[in-house]
Amino acid sequence: RNPDVPLLWFDGALAASDTLQVPLNTHAMHYGTGVFEGIRSYATRDGSSVFRLPEHLERMRKGADLLGIDFDVAQAFEATVQTLRANGHRDAYIRPLTWLGTSATGVSIGLDVPGLSQHFMVITLPTVVHLNGKRARLTVSPWKRNPASSLPPLKLCGAYVNSILAKHDSRKRGFDEALFVDEDGYVVECTGANVFMVRNGEVTAVEHRDALPGITRDTLIALTGATSRPVTHHELLDADEVFACGSAAEVAPISVLDRREFGDNPVTRELSALYARVVRGEEPQYAGWLTAV
Ligand code: PMP
Repeated sequence: RNPDVPLLWFDGALAASDTLQVPLNTHAMHYGTGVFEGIRSYATRDGSSVFRLPEHLERMRKGADLLGIDFDVAQAFEATVQTLRANGHRDAYIRPLTWLGTSATGVSIGLDVPGLSQHFMVITLPTVVHLNGKRARLTVSPWKRNPASSLPPLKLCGAYVNSILAKHDSRKRGFDEALFVDEDGYVVECTGANVFMVRNGEVTAVEHRDALPGITRDTLIALTGATSRPVTHHELLDADEVFACGSAAEVAPISVLDRREFGDNPVTRELSALYARVVRGEEPQYAGWLTAV
């Protein structure tokens, strides 16, 4: 095998990533019927560790359940660890994906289509830093977030077309990222990250039923005791600091929200440094969030 070609996990075994193909009548390709996760591993003093792996896989299971995909958390856990080991990755981005395969005969799934195949893969990539690790420039999206009453906030493949439209629009207008605001003026989230604000030293996590329940968000609330509550667009413009957070984005300070410029961000900087120590196993009381590879 060519050692330059990374390995991935596909349906129960490791395989070279350049040898695999999916059929053109794959259900997920036609209808977006898949579920994915975005997970990080980090180099720690004792080797590589995955951050909050069980929580990510549990969220993935919820999405799989909706689509009638059998999802075995224990197997996915093992596949993730094995793929990281096989590629020798330490600081890595981990992308598990499960989806409905052949064949795409219509919108029926589950018991209606007994022959519909199910698949599972894991790819691991040397770290890519979402939002480039710099202070991001944010703009309110003209697109509204998928309402939870139409699409539950889980990592369903098809749901991400909504994020893609918003991101694409923001990039075309010269920004780094889009902010979803609902019809009533409440902040929802970014295209792939949750939102926090800091005012008078107080940290607030934006809460919204249409937003993905982020694991990084949960982590930061646990670390800071931040209040979780609905926040209006107005309030966000009035904050001293705003940051986005996610497994890939980590803690990403926002420099601009449309015409509002944010100044120095000492609290965000401190939280970002704390988060970095936690995920790298440098804060022993949070070692329980790490899975050793
Ligand atoms: N919102 C959306 C839409 C996302 O895609 C992500 C990334 N998974 C997040 C928020 C942040 O979630 P997490 O902290 O669990 O990565």
